Amino acid sequence: MSGTPTPLASALAARIAADGPLTVADFMAECLFHPRHGYYSTREPFGRAGDFVTAPEISQMFGELLGLWAADAWMRLGAPSPFVFAELGPGRGTLMADALRAARVVPGFLDAARLVLVEASPRLRDVQRAALAGHRIEWADRVEDLPAGPLILLANEFIDALPVRQFVRTPEGIAERMVGLDAEGALAFGLRPGARLDAADEHRLLATPAGALLEICPLGRSVAAHVGARLPRDGGAALFVDYGHAGGFGDTLQALRAHAYDDPLAHPGEADLTAHVDFAALAAAARANGGRAFGPVGQGELLGRLGLEARAGRLKRDASPEAAAAIDAAALRLAGTHEQGMGTLFKALALVHPHLGAPAGFAPEDEFGGSA
Ligand code: SAH
Repeated sequence: MSGTPTPLASALAARIAADGPLTVADFMAECLFHPRHGYYSTREPFGRAGDFVTAPEISQMFGELLGLWAADAWMRLGAPSPFVFAELGPGRGTLMADALRAARVVPGFLDAARLVLVEASPRLRDVQRAALAGHRIEWADRVEDLPAGPLILLANEFIDALPVRQFVRTPEGIAERMVGLDAEGALAFGLRPGARLDAADEHRLLATPAGALLEICPLGRSVAAHVGARLPRDGGAALFVDYGHAGGFGDTLQALRAHAYDDPLAHPGEADLTAHVDFAALAAAARANGGRAFGPVGQGELLGRLGLEARAGRLKRDASPEAAAAIDAAALRLAGTHEQGMGTLFKALALVHPHLGAPAGFAPEDEFGGSA
């Protein structure tokens, strides 16, 4: 660790000295949501002045296309009224504002929608209230607290913010990666031997060579399990967009500060901490509870199928040449497969009611694990 420890680093070091090392998940949770020093509690992370730019902040087209996805899902469900239109981790509220504007073209959708946002940060709830002025909004603390009934749910870059635990295959068995203290009293990674996982994860990890690291996002899995169990009961569809992989190994814990990668232990509370999403684990959790999963498909593929090009073309019709160039650049950033592009690193997973076929943006052959 370099430089002066952040206030949260000092607080965590004192706690570790007294109570012992923290799991990576506990460390991540403190960094993001510590009431006084946590990243989301104190900072404005989004946008050019912040630490990272998310898809809805790149262009209105992203939220608009997801809004049309939601309206299409609503019609496929038989246009239930009322229904719960929810977003998990809405950030600045941009995606929802763009989605509602686009979905207005579908008669009845807005009148039938009960808007509920799941947001942990009181500060961001205020930002969302302002962004969505003119709409009646409710907030919930957890996905489990959403009101009952048919549900259409959107989540962009939500699961990547949920804490992960890290397990390492060592010659002696499975150890958990922990955040402890080095000889100088600074935060440092270590291993706690003798960790136990559930049977399937343990089997997977023990089948790898020593050194392999498996990340498990317990909260992400429980969100997927809950939505997977609820959709067959109440009806509905959910779309999760995030960066990640369809099941894999390796340390993906990553800190971003002022648009640059940072050592995850260097600036607790002052850098954003995320981990790549394991979409296979989410899909499996939803399916184990009766849900059907489609994807993951690349964000570029999803947006292409939802009509990105046509939407960009429509926006460019009324735009100056400079604005038109910016629209093209944004579309390329969102869907491109080049290094700066989000088209393949970012992926989408849909969870649906078992009677619903492939939702918009997904093909029947995109069903995860074949038909249930
Ligand atoms: N979807 C937005 C913001 C992504 S950042 C965008 O794409 O721009 C992650 C968001 O999830 C933030 O709003 C953060 O406060 C929220 N969040 C993270 N963990 C959460 C949790 N456990 N419960 C509720 N909200 C959470």
